[in-house]
Amino acid sequence: MTLSVSSRVAFVGAGPGEADLITVRGAQRLQEADVVLFDSLADPALRQLAPNARWIDVGKRGFTGVAHAPRSGGRENTGQDTINALLVKHARSGARVVRLKGGDPSVFGRLEEELEALAAAGIECEVVPGVTAALAAAAATQRPLTRRGAGRSVALTTAMTQSGDLVAGRHADTESFYMAGKQLAALSRRLVAAGWPADTPAVVVSRAGWPDQIATDHDVATLGDATVLHSGRPTIVTVGVGAAPVQGERGTTPAGATPWAEKAISTP
Ligand code: SAH
Repeated sequence: MTLSVSSRVAFVGAGPGEADLITVRGAQRLQEADVVLFDSLADPALRQLAPNARWIDVGKRGFTGVAHAPRSGGRENTGQDTINALLVKHARSGARVVRLKGGDPSVFGRLEEELEALAAAGIECEVVPGVTAALAAAAATQRPLTRRGAGRSVALTTAMTQSGDLVAGRHADTESFYMAGKQLAALSRRLVAAGWPADTPAVVVSRAGWPDQIATDHDVATLGDATVLHSGRPTIVTVGVGAAPVQGERGTTPAGATPWAEKAISTP
């Protein structure tokens, strides 16, 4: 392992939303890049940081993380093997390669496979962290994920298994679910079955970190109510202690509340 700035490949977390949520280091790596392999969740405005680099869309589906699935437009998603091969090929050509991933590369980002492929090829790389979606959702709603006394642990979870089944448990005081936006009603049932009390607070945030982010309040038993409003948008479901409003908060209702609420947060 190396942290050398001369690494041929930098995995860079683009952050969850608008381009300015990338880290300064991530932006520097983009500016130095000759080739950028990017996926669908990264803000296209990031291209301005590396206008002369070759940008290659390796658009795996951000919503499910499932590679190889056809897109609605009929185009096949780039499979993981293809991405691995592209990384190795461009790094070997002498190019400085950035592998740009939505959020943080280490969270549901298939980083393991890509690191393994580079290691097998003997290519040095570094990982530049990014803001993961669960943190953007917490920021959007001003709901701290940890709370003094009651909220001592946070789990980042996907309820989706590789086979497409939905499984849920209860792993922490606050649990943030990725990739469950299309199956909120099923997630609700699984959470109750896993032992979360039906009235546990649950907040659903879609497109966190974007100007059109939406957040809605529910409880574990009524999560399914969020389905239509958040449909087709990348969505985080936060359940438990960290989903509760802080004292004095005006909730997710826009009605003349704080500027962020007027602009971005609405309720059905
Ligand atoms: N590496 C990414 C996660 C990729 S998995 C990260 O660290 O954030 C893709 C899932 O992330 C989506 O299905 C959704 O659950 C979540 N996600 C990504 N961007 C999001 C956003 N802006 N708002 C809400 N959820 C988001």
